Amino acid sequence: MLVLVLNSGSSSVKYQVRHVSTGSAVGADGAVGADGAGGGAAGDGSSTSDGPEALIAEGIVERIGEGEVTDHVEALAIINAELDETMSGRQLDAVGHRVVHGGERFSEPVLISNEITRAIERLNPLAPLHNPANVLGIRAIEDTWPDLPQVAVFDTAFHRTLPERSWRYAIPNHFYRHYGIRRYGFHGTSVEYVTAQAATLLGTARQDFNAVVAHLGNGASVTAIEGGRSVDTSMGFTPLEGLVMGTRSGDLDPSILLFLQRDGWTADELDRMLNRESGLTALFGSNDMRAIVEAGDDRARLTLDIASYRLAKYIGGYHVAVSGAQAIVFTAGIGENSWEFRQAVAHRLAPLGVKLDDDANRAQADTARVISAPDSALAVLVVPTDEERAIAEATAAVVHAQGC
Ligand code: ADP
Repeated sequence: MLVLVLNSGSSSVKYQVRHVSTGSAVGADGAVGADGAGGGAAGDGSSTSDGPEALIAEGIVERIGEGEVTDHVEALAIINAELDETMSGRQLDAVGHRVVHGGERFSEPVLISNEITRAIERLNPLAPLHNPANVLGIRAIEDTWPDLPQVAVFDTAFHRTLPERSWRYAIPNHFYRHYGIRRYGFHGTSVEYVTAQAATLLGTARQDFNAVVAHLGNGASVTAIEGGRSVDTSMGFTPLEGLVMGTRSGDLDPSILLFLQRDGWTADELDRMLNRESGLTALFGSNDMRAIVEAGDDRARLTLDIASYRLAKYIGGYHVAVSGAQAIVFTAGIGENSWEFRQAVAHRLAPLGVKLDDDANRAQADTARVISAPDSALAVLVVPTDEERAIAEATAAVVHAQGC
């Protein structure tokens, strides 16, 4: 099955076409449809341990084209033309959309209908930059390829299993009822995929897997996994909460905003400051972890210290939240590539009995691997994420299950 994976952002549309084999991946035994890598986003724990690894071994997911376009109106026409060239006559079977916000309604990928599109639109206030762009993408596909099934895969869905003690803010209930202010969590597609891979690597059934998964890209979040499900996550009402990120501040005292508003700063100015000018960018002057590590000066050291300290505090807390994690999992740009950052975090976790195998930690690889020492109390893993693959597989599973 050929799936066009679309990530329609506010200023660009990223796309890839992925080939998902319907034979072993989505069909017969239903393994992928039931497990995280391919299907249900809710993490129902009904995975089979040979799911994702078997898919990799068979090489049945293949990348056949990708690109980025910047104008929504023309985006689909450009993609269409490029696909004509790159796909040599092969037809698309489905489109999978990365949708940022699924609110409280969506706990797994869904086949898109008019009603679903309207429901995504109703969530616009919760993700004003992203959901309207996703809806534009959906409508553009409807216009271009009206017969193609479309599936929405939500960034929030995997976190629909958060218990209320994790998702509720200690503010008057009116703000939850009226505005939907609560913690939602993001990066769910990536975290679910990586969790399934990590459980497989350790030979643990997903429903028995307790872990802390750190997705450290430009946006960064950490998720507590208990029994294969998300039970806490560091991003909240928006992706701003939690870790120190490339350009976002992460946690801070909300009174700072009141203080600054009273001094005349506008909401838009504060938004820009917190989301675009903070984090590593504010501390070091760049959001590129490679540059920070290479600089190695006092400012770089302080930046690494602040970011790794914040993450280590979350990991310690989430180790408690899941009643003891079996593994700590690093993924995304920094998590997969920066042995220095992993080392800084692991060093702080020594009181939990975490010990890295230094050679394994420093070795560059693009496969899922264990980097902890044999006598480490918790396994430490690096697992490359692949959101497009996860979306393609989820899309194929939904289309297959719906028989369209
Ligand atoms: P995005 O959230 O935009 O998808 P990525 O997952 O690509 O982000 O991660 C971007 C981050 O990963 C940047 O801070 C970048 O410096 C860091 N990164 C990428 N490659 C390396 C590397 N080889 N060593 C250290 N950091 C890296």
